[in-house]
Parts: sequence; C-alpha cells; structure tokens
Amino acid sequence: MISKILIANRGEIALRVLRACKELGIPTVAVHSTADADAMHVRLADESVCIGPPPSRDSYLNIHQIVAACEITGADAVHPGYGFLSENAKFADILEAHGITFIGPTAEHIRLMGDKITAKKTAVELSIPVVPGSDGEVTPENASEIARQIGFPVLIKATAGGGGRGMKVAKTEADLEEAFNTARSEAAAAFGNDAVYMEKYLGKPRHIEIQVVGDGAGNAIHLGERDCSLQRRHQKVWEEANSPALNVDQRMKIGQICADAMKKMKYRGAGTIEFLYENGEFYFIEMNTRLQVEHPITEAITGIDLVHEQIRVASGAGLSVTQDEISFSGHAIECRINAEDPRTFVPSPGTITHFHAPGGLGVRVDSGAYAGYKIPPYYDSLIGKLIVHGRTRVECMMRLRRVLDEFVVDGIKTTLPLFQDLVSNQDIANGDYDIHWLEKYLTGDKPSA
Ligand code: ADP
Repeated sequence: MISKILIANRGEIALRVLRACKELGIPTVAVHSTADADAMHVRLADESVCIGPPPSRDSYLNIHQIVAACEITGADAVHPGYGFLSENAKFADILEAHGITFIGPTAEHIRLMGDKITAKKTAVELSIPVVPGSDGEVTPENASEIARQIGFPVLIKATAGGGGRGMKVAKTEADLEEAFNTARSEAAAAFGNDAVYMEKYLGKPRHIEIQVVGDGAGNAIHLGERDCSLQRRHQKVWEEANSPALNVDQRMKIGQICADAMKKMKYRGAGTIEFLYENGEFYFIEMNTRLQVEHPITEAITGIDLVHEQIRVASGAGLSVTQDEISFSGHAIECRINAEDPRTFVPSPGTITHFHAPGGLGVRVDSGAYAGYKIPPYYDSLIGKLIVHGRTRVECMMRLRRVLDEFVVDGIKTTLPLFQDLVSNQDIANGDYDIHWLEKYLTGDKPSA
C-alpha cells in the first residue's frame, strides 16, 4: 500500500495529481523550486519541500534532491506527472533501489518505448500497425537505398526524438542528403544522440492516440481515442475525444489491438499509443509511458479518473474497471491555455491581475493560476487547460463558445483568442482537419471563418 505521495512536478499537473490523492485520502508532499514557493500545488499540499533554484535541471530534474525530499518526509511513492522525470528510466530505477514506488511503468518498459527504433520493433512484435520505414538506424551509406525502397517523400526522425525535434522531410532524392544531415545534427544537439531512422512521410494524416492502462500482471484496458491533429510545430493545441474521424467499430478495433498489446507486455500504469491515421489506416508513431496533458478529455467521456487508476495499479490494487464496464458518453474538447501572444506565440510571463475561470455544466478548468499569480519565466507556458463536455460534438462546441467568452485572464497575453477564432471556424465545426491544418490557418492559407 502507498501511505504518502510526493508529487515531482509543478503547475496544473501537480495540482491535478494532488486532487486525486486527496480524494483517495493519501497525504501529499509538494516539491518546488524557489520560483514556485507561492504556487497553488505548494499551498494545497500537506507538506512541501524546496528542492532548489529556478532552473529545472537544479530542481524538478534533480533526482538526488527529490529522493532526499522523500526521505525527509517519509513519502513512499512518487507521481512524476508529465514532462520532467516522468519518462526517465534511471529515476524509476533509483526510486526502486530506495524502496520508493514510482507511479508509472517499470524502468524496462520506459527504456523500451523511449528509444523510437526499439519502440517500433516492439510495436511490430505486438501486432500494432506501424508507418512503413527503415528497420533500424539509417546511415549515410544506406540512406538513399532505403529512401527509394520506402518511396519519396520520406521523413528522417531522431531515434531519441521528442517534441518534434530532429525531424526532416525529404520530398525527393535531391533533398535527401541535406535533410539527413540536418536531422542528424539537430538530434545530436537536442538529445546528444545523432542516430536517425526513416519513415514514409504521410501527406494528410490525423494524429489519433489510444489511452491504455495496465495492471502489470497481464490485465489491461483501453479508454478509446483522442484526436490531437490540431498542432503547431508538432505541439498539440486543441484535442478532442472522440475523434470526429472514427466510428464505433474503428474505435473498438484499434482500442482492442492496443489493450491486447499491453496485456502481452504486462504493462503497468497509464500509457498512450500514438498513431497517424490516413485513409482508414492506423500507423504507430510512438508510445508515451506516462499521463498526458490531454488526459482529461478521456476522463470526461468515460467518467474514469486516470490518476486514481495510476495510483491503484502502482499500489498493487489492480484496475477499478473491466473493459466491458467502460462506455463512452458524449464529446469533450480541451484547449491548452498558454501564456503566449495568440498571434506570434511569443511567451508572455508576468503577473495575472484578474482571473475568472468559467463554470457551469460540463466545464472543467485545470489550472494553478489565480489573480495575483506571477508566472515564472523558467518553465513551459501552459497556465491552464479548459475542458468542455457535451452530449454531442455540436453541444460541446456550443458550450465551448459560451465558456470562452466567460474566461478572463488579464495582465498577460494568452492563447484564449485563438480558441475563440477556432470555435467559429467552419472546417473545425465540420471536424475536417489534419495535422497540417492549424499551421496553414495561422499562415493565412485557410479561411479564417
Ligand atoms: P515527437 O516524439 O518528436 O513528438 P512523433 O513521432 O510523436 O515525434 O511525431 C510528432 C509529430 O510529427 C506527429 O504528431 C506528426 O504531426 C508528425 N509526424 C511524425 N511522423 C510522421 C510521418 N511519418 N509522416 C508525417 N508526419 C509525421
């Protein structure tokens, strides 16, 4: 059993995890940098420990300080949230060596999925459909032959990739050498590992991902899909569940493939299997072995608290539901509210002077922000998530329009005006968009209403 949970994160996700712990009656420890001493997750936790100065590498990424904080407070489990140490296998190993439960998968599974070539090979072994591409690493010697076998256009991707870095398209043979070299040097700079592999470049796919949870003993469920096609620079901006592009049969089929794969792996914890989807086919791109930012839309349509499930399986209590008990009700949309200029996306740190979160039926705001809160410039710019649920997609969009008018965040710039534009757009209303739609819209290649 788990008796006290240390939350190794900050911002809205630290608060999100804290809420689940409170509901389960488990005491919490917040950790924070000196820049976050006044943060909401620190105020609401039962105990808090300052773990260092503002830069993440000295605080939220400082494994020694976090383990020491567990020892000082007697926390016997750590929830890593997303980002920071959530997919760090070494962290999971160190916690285990100290007898502390990592609320997440085994270090072995984190490693397996953290390397994209290994992840893809594993996906093939687990009968998950993948994007056609190279079997392993691509070298200057074999790049051209492999690209011709796959067929142009091809995408060169970093094995250690993340956040869309180290990724380059070669439309034809003539582009190949440059794309290959740029991808390699970007990968080396970003990840300290210049290994790359190659995939068929899909022209107009949607990004559709499946939520899974496993108990580590061979039992696993899927919770349907999320459509995260609306992206800017490979970063998700607006997510929906269900996908406007799938019907029930498609959902249950791909969901079952993923759940079966997790059963075979004996996967423990929550995970997301990400696919590109084009012309009725799914192509695996990666698996994230953690909770995702957009998990609340899945919670909205299933009524299942994913953090409760994570804590249950980490403590050995198993899943609270079986696949048969899961039903999908209505439609949910999440908007990521960033402290950024809605046109240029330049970060806008500063003090929030007025803050009014919307309410009413089907509305959830996950945010640690409040009036008087000073957004530190050291971390990502996500200040909150707005999640709206309705019985149908149409009702959900109507509610979202109303809710966006109600939301007040003054003193800084936010991406709220972007969502006001999107909610009135005809393509969005029709659910007619792919992963390139938003970039085109922002550069004026798409009608604005
Ligand atoms: P990262 O880990 O860097 O986020 P992913 O493999 O998840 O990398 O890909 C990020 C995004 O890049 C996808 O959501 C999609 O928009 C685009 N992408 C990835 N692979 C392909 C592909 N084979 N064809 C077209 N677009 C792709």
